[in-house]
Amino acid sequence: SERLKQSLSKTRKQLGNQLASLFGGGKIDAEVYEELETILITSDVGVNATKNLLADIKNRVKVQSLDDTVQLKAALKEAMSDLLTPLQKPLDTSGQKPFVIMLAGVNGAGKTTSIGKLAHAFQAEGKSVLIAAGDTFRAAAREQLQIWGERNNVHVVSQTSGDAAAVMFDAINSAKAKNIDIVLADTAGRLPTQMHLMDEIAKVKRVMDKALPGAPHEVLLVLDANTGQNAVTQVKTFDDALGVTGLVLSKLDGTAKGGVIAAIAEARPIPIRYIGIGEGIDDLRPFIAADFIDAMID
Ligand code: GDP
Repeated sequence: SERLKQSLSKTRKQLGNQLASLFGGGKIDAEVYEELETILITSDVGVNATKNLLADIKNRVKVQSLDDTVQLKAALKEAMSDLLTPLQKPLDTSGQKPFVIMLAGVNGAGKTTSIGKLAHAFQAEGKSVLIAAGDTFRAAAREQLQIWGERNNVHVVSQTSGDAAAVMFDAINSAKAKNIDIVLADTAGRLPTQMHLMDEIAKVKRVMDKALPGAPHEVLLVLDANTGQNAVTQVKTFDDALGVTGLVLSKLDGTAKGGVIAAIAEARPIPIRYIGIGEGIDDLRPFIAADFIDAMID
C-alpha cells in the first residue's frame, strides 16, 4: 500500500496535513471541533458525512474519556472506518456464467479505461471476457474498445447501427454460446441532468434481463474522484435510475478530493468495488478501507 499512499498524496496533503497541525496534542475543546469541521468540509467529505463523523467522534471522546487531540486523531480514523469498512465488499463473480457487469457513468469518468483494466484483471485470473461496446453514441469509444480488444485477445461485440439494446442482446447471446465467464457491458456516457437518457440506460438494463434473466448481475458506476461533490449527485441519479450495486472511484491519483469517498458513503452506502489510481492497466485496485484511511490520514 506504499503505492496507494503515493497515489493519494494530494488528498493526504489536503486533509492529512491540515489534521496534523490540529492533532498536535493540545486539549480537545469547542474550537478544535470547529476547526475539524472546517477541515473535513473543505476536504470534500461533505456536510452530512462531516456532521455524522463529528457526532461519532464526540461520542467516542465522551465514552472513552479522551482529552487530548492526539487521541482525537485515532477517534477520527475509527469513525471513518465505521463509515467505510461496510463498503469493502469485493465483487464476487462466481455463481453466474456469464456474469454480466454493466458499467455506467458520465462522459470522461473513466469507464472505458476501467473496462480495459477489469478485462485484464479477469483474464489474469484465468477467466474469459467479452466486452459489449454499448456506448453507441460515441464511435470513438466503440473503436477504442475494439482496438483494445484486438490487442488483448478479448472479443468485442459492437454495432454501427447505434442501437445499444441490440448490442447487449447480441453480446449476451454470444457470451452464452462461447461459454464466456464475464461480460463487461459499456453504456453511453451520460450527464446527470439528462434524465431522458437515464430512461434509455434503464431500458438497456431491461434488455439484458430479457437476454439472460437476472442480468446484469452487477451495475457498476464509475465516478471521477476529481469531480468532488458532483460525484455524490451522480451516485444518487444513477442509483435512482438503475439500482447501482457497486462503485469504481477513479482518478484518486492526482486529486486532492479523495475525501469525497466519505460523502459518497454517507449519501448511498453502495459497495466500493474498485479504486482507480492511475492510467496503467494494473491501476485498478480492490477497495480496502483501512489502507485507504491510512493513506489519507497518517
Ligand atoms: P469514459 O468517457 O468514462 O469512458 O472515460 P475514459 O475511460 O476514456 O477516461 C477518461 C480519461 O481519464 C482518460 O484520459 C483516462 O486515461 C483517464 N483515467 C481513467 N481512469 C483513471 C485513473 O484512475 N487515474 C488517472 N490518472 N487517469 C484515469
